[in-house]
Amino acid sequence: MKTVDEHLADILAATHRLAPLDLALLEAVHGVLAEPVTAPVNLPPFDNSAMDGYAVLASDVAGASETSPVTLSVVGDIAAGDQEAYGIRAGLCARIMTGAPVPAGCDAIVPVEWTDGGTAKVAIRRPAVAGHYIRRSGEDVTEGQVVLEPGTRLGAAQIGMLAAVGRARVAVRPRPRVVVLSTGSELVEPGSSVGPGQIWDANGFALTAAATEAGGVGFRQGVIGDDPRQVLAAIEEQLGFADLVITSGGVSMGARDVVKEVLSGLGTMKFEQVAMRPGKPQGFGLLDDHTPIFTLPGNPVSAFVSFQVFVRPALRALQGLPPDPLPTVTARLTTPVSSPSGLRHFLRGALVYRHGAYEVSPAEGQGSHQIFSLSSSNCLMVVGDDVTSLDAGAPVDVMMLP
Ligand code: AMP
Ligand code: MG
Repeated sequence: MKTVDEHLADILAATHRLAPLDLALLEAVHGVLAEPVTAPVNLPPFDNSAMDGYAVLASDVAGASETSPVTLSVVGDIAAGDQEAYGIRAGLCARIMTGAPVPAGCDAIVPVEWTDGGTAKVAIRRPAVAGHYIRRSGEDVTEGQVVLEPGTRLGAAQIGMLAAVGRARVAVRPRPRVVVLSTGSELVEPGSSVGPGQIWDANGFALTAAATEAGGVGFRQGVIGDDPRQVLAAIEEQLGFADLVITSGGVSMGARDVVKEVLSGLGTMKFEQVAMRPGKPQGFGLLDDHTPIFTLPGNPVSAFVSFQVFVRPALRALQGLPPDPLPTVTARLTTPVSSPSGLRHFLRGALVYRHGAYEVSPAEGQGSHQIFSLSSSNCLMVVGDDVTSLDAGAPVDVMMLP
């Protein structure tokens, strides 16, 4: 049997990052930047006011106080967006709005709250030191500075940064398109009624959602019965469109394990046993040189754990991101656990942060068909391949579920 680490290493060796696309900013959301982005100008581009108030000479208002305000003549109004170049000198000031360019001569802004708000003359009741409430050109970003490095995932703040330096389009690796196919003649669509021997397709939905959670765009295909021709046709049909394909079901040792049957020997597909629980039967390969295909086991928890352990890092690699595992912390076990020798054991559990430390309790019901204990857990405890038991209080690695 292969170890989890060996299987993941094989997957990552075969997974190459997607070519970047030139996208408009709002199409690039959640994509991964594929170029360094530099600022063409300073930000702010010009000295401007941080407040609504009055642009003054600090020396004019140095003696201002509540009891003896300084009165200045107001030469005009400067609004954000104004291009007219005012100048002020001793005894004068200009009313100024937040974001408006600071006029020549001015070295301080007095906020309107410190004044009587006058329009022809204004009484100022507090002094302001030089530089007060002036946002200097370049104090955020300087011209030529790299503001975003390649490999950055573009969330809202990064999209805002790109727009702030004037970019309308950027080179990004887009979110990978992940096609999810559920196989099994027992499966029916949620929303329709189940007959004898039938169950609703859970994996198709869980894996599609997981793909989206992991930074891809999930596309769920309808269920496919255990029919070799249909299974092969459905997978081949997706190869032109998908960046990654996931199937579930049909890869274990049964007489009708049709995914394994039709894909064995095609492309680089390999069907192997991986030393893990749940999720031992795994298939992976490429049919067309570039589209990774994961054939996951059918039990819902096996499929889900396999996704988090193998597919998620591959999805990251497709985007040129480091293939990190789920965020992992060390927690103290609240109850003892036992674990099979020679298998990496992923147990569902409840992780809580209490008195400055993480504690984890295994869920009831660790069968690979028991999806309720998965949906009511928030983490996977990872018990090492050679560990057969852990006492209460022992430290254990815990992967936090998204
Ligand atoms: P298989 O890997 O096809 O042998 O399936 C293993 C178990 O998982 C069987 O009990 C299947 O009915 C169940 N199963 C397979 N696919 C799904 C699915 N999409 N949703 C829920 N259960 C499934
Ligand atoms: Mg099946």
